Amino acid sequence: MEIIDLRSDTVTTPTPEMREAMYYAKVGDDVYEEDPTVVELEQLGANLLGKEAGLFLPSGTMGNQVAVMSWTRRGNEVILEAESHMYYYEVGGLAVLSGVQVRTVKGERGVMNPVEVESAIRSPNIHFPETALICVENTHNRGGGKVIPLDNMRSIYEVAKRHNLSVHLDGARIFNASIYLKLEASELAKYADSVMFCLSKGLSAPVGSLLVGSSPFIKLARKYRKMLGGGMRQVGVIASAGVVALKTMINRLQEDHDNAKLLAEGLQEVPYLYVNPTEVETNMVIIEVVSSSMSAGALARALSKEGLFCNATSPSTIRLVTHKDINRQQILQSIAIFKGLKF
Ligand SMILES: *Cc1c(COP(=O)(O)O)cnc(C)c1O
Repeated sequence: MEIIDLRSDTVTTPTPEMREAMYYAKVGDDVYEEDPTVVELEQLGANLLGKEAGLFLPSGTMGNQVAVMSWTRRGNEVILEAESHMYYYEVGGLAVLSGVQVRTVKGERGVMNPVEVESAIRSPNIHFPETALICVENTHNRGGGKVIPLDNMRSIYEVAKRHNLSVHLDGARIFNASIYLKLEASELAKYADSVMFCLSKGLSAPVGSLLVGSSPFIKLARKYRKMLGGGMRQVGVIASAGVVALKTMINRLQEDHDNAKLLAEGLQEVPYLYVNPTEVETNMVIIEVVSSSMSAGALARALSKEGLFCNATSPSTIRLVTHKDINRQQILQSIAIFKGLKF
């Protein structure tokens, strides 16, 4: 049976060009900053986002955590969206690694109201922790791949600057946002002091993320990456695939967005589901299971028996993610699998 894997864009496999680049990659010891391929990737990533310097890390989680370690001191408070990846999916790392306290702001599918962000900032008071950082996530994962509009990012950044705070952008899928908005990623990155983005999701590299920001910030982040055991040696072997990802894989994300839209439109006709195609902006489709006789988890298990893999993200919702290893034909077949399920 052919498997259609819509669990995540992390399941993408490297392209032939990536494998070739990996084979021939020039390497050196990157802890000594002597790996030319890593240096190239870090510079390329920084340039794309309009920042001074970059740092290659094994994962997006490490990139976000190292960013918070670099921006904060123990006992500080960090403002985050209530459904954000950094709060929801990073194993409590902010508390453990940075020793910070989190203040959440509930957004509308991940989009925070700048007025609420501002009122979450602590005033000087002997009883209060000091707010140090505001984090924004674009595209927003639990918001169903929702794009945070440029205006919203600008307003939050202006709030931050009025209060002398830094902004970190969890831009794991920043290029999905830039493609949707038809803007350079650097336009979005203007409204953040640091940005993390993933090479290993829609961009299809096998491993790795980049953190970009000012040179002094990246110098400090490099130290914390080493502390966490993320200082790697001849890692140009994998950074080379990241270079290919940034050079060849950004514009094709539109195809994933088109496929997600097609999927959502097709699933509208499935009686036991609710889906709103107008909410599909990038490569994710969130469907709500409206049948009382089956939970989202049970539906995901039933689908997997038919060769369609997806993740339940709550007792009543399923997330489907399109990516470069899924074509239009497989989208149509996925819709047929949903329609064919009997329960
Ligand atoms: C995937 C993801 C991350 C973390 O990336 P990993 O490489 O899986 O650690 C961070 N933020 C968001 C929004 C993500 O979707």
